[in-house]
Amino acid sequence: MKHDQSVTHTIGHLIDGRIVADAARTQPVFNPATGLSSSSVALADRATVEQAIASAQAAFPAWRNTPPLKRARVMSRLKGLLEENADKIAALITAEHGKVLSDAHGELQRGIENVEYASYAPELLKGEHSRNVGPSIDSWSEFQALGVTAGITPFNFPAMVPLWMWPMALVCGNTFVLKPSERDPSSVLFIAQLALQAGVPPGVLNVVNGDKEAVDTLLTDARVKAVSFVGSTPIAQSIYATGCAHGKRVQALGGAKNHAVLMPDADVNNAVSALMGAAYGSCGERCMAIPLLVAVGDAVGDAVVAGLKTEIAKMKVGPGTDNGNDMGPLVTKQHFEKVRAYVDSGVAEGAELVVDGRGVQVAPGHENGYFLGACLFDQVRPGMKIYQEEIFGPVLGVVRVKTLQEAMDLIDAHEYGNGTCIFTRDGEAARYFSDHIQVGMVGVNVPLPVPVAYHSFGGFKRSLFGDLNAYGPDAVRFYTKRKTITQRWPSAGVREGAVFSFPSNR
Ligand code: NAD
Repeated sequence: MKHDQSVTHTIGHLIDGRIVADAARTQPVFNPATGLSSSSVALADRATVEQAIASAQAAFPAWRNTPPLKRARVMSRLKGLLEENADKIAALITAEHGKVLSDAHGELQRGIENVEYASYAPELLKGEHSRNVGPSIDSWSEFQALGVTAGITPFNFPAMVPLWMWPMALVCGNTFVLKPSERDPSSVLFIAQLALQAGVPPGVLNVVNGDKEAVDTLLTDARVKAVSFVGSTPIAQSIYATGCAHGKRVQALGGAKNHAVLMPDADVNNAVSALMGAAYGSCGERCMAIPLLVAVGDAVGDAVVAGLKTEIAKMKVGPGTDNGNDMGPLVTKQHFEKVRAYVDSGVAEGAELVVDGRGVQVAPGHENGYFLGACLFDQVRPGMKIYQEEIFGPVLGVVRVKTLQEAMDLIDAHEYGNGTCIFTRDGEAARYFSDHIQVGMVGVNVPLPVPVAYHSFGGFKRSLFGDLNAYGPDAVRFYTKRKTITQRWPSAGVREGAVFSFPSNR
């Protein structure tokens, strides 16, 4: 591992409103465009995480009783601060994740929209009221805060995914401990400091950097009432099982292998443009990326492969800081090697490598960056590793089938069910597809159907463990518990004797 010793600093935690660093264990953070490391991140031990939980626990009673409108105003101020600091946040994302700056701005904007939604909290928390459910009896349901809640987030959207979680948790009256990805921790920490500036009281939002030790502490500590997780499927499944076994409410969003279906009647040029961004944007490191295209019929299959080949030749690969580039590097050396090995395995298993991105040339000074050019496989078949497994890199595979039903059967048989999309001009086919397909988020001529902040995000099958989706209306339900109160004030003249039968409205 290369360290540039001249600028080393340790990225710490935010606990009780202060930056602290327990640097007993640290891990280098790399700039994927150069392969150099200029900082390291502290990896919290159990005691540090317990300190963060204690701080969140102590801050809970006052925050719970803060009027929702005041909590919401904090989010309105935060929205302004995020917009003012957008360039700085995007630069932090690009420096550690590698994605191009325009894409970093895009992820931040989607995060800001979640903050904006959180600022509607008083409306979202109004509850339900029924008058006269019985004689002079009123009943209502209210949505009460849970207490200390926690989030564990992946590397690929270091700003956006945390913003799916804690703004909604906070406006619902909870306090929060966030454990972001140790691979790109700086933008998260900076945003948390902006939250303090916006008026989040110390202890209400804490950030602990770390790895499995920190996560295990959050999952087993009885003071943590709910855990939101986003990351790979094996970890999501184990987080769900462990968190539930410790009596917590858990939503754990996992990996994906999203298929797009290209119908014979589709506008192929539009589909090619859409697929370029969906397959290669952010180097394929998106859980809603399209790594598989199912072409229905050989004519449209041949046309799309030819179109993609032409467009890939025009793509610019290089450091994300250069606005002229379309695609940056992969996040770490290990991930780069893993994705390359998938390309090797696709060749070995007999898929046709139409475009080979291995050995891509990038600007001088970036030879040690983790760059892989766009790869395109044709003749991919179920059973191949590149078909079955999530690659999370710039690798698009084309599968050929004869009918829409065959395409749908393939999608439904896959272990993941996060997103999918159909390109067609046939409304009936699109309606049938979106009605029946076993996938949580469906696009019709929309390649990345990521729900907006006022809907909720979640997949089917092994892409989500839990009952409620992330952000939007589901987040209000996830971060609150329903309490139903039934009330009567007997007036002086009305006195009932004991009643032994079950009350009803007959
Ligand atoms: P990851 O599963 O490796 O890590 C996610 C988080 O879990 C990180 O904070 C990490 O520190 C922690 N973690 C890792 N190993 C752990 C362990 N053994 N025990 C406890 N905690 C552990 O995922 P990643 O590589 O950071 O992110 C990419 C994955 O996330 C992809 O699979 C992608 O599809 C998925 N993802 C899913 C969604 C979604 O909404 N479904 C969104 C973004 C990313």
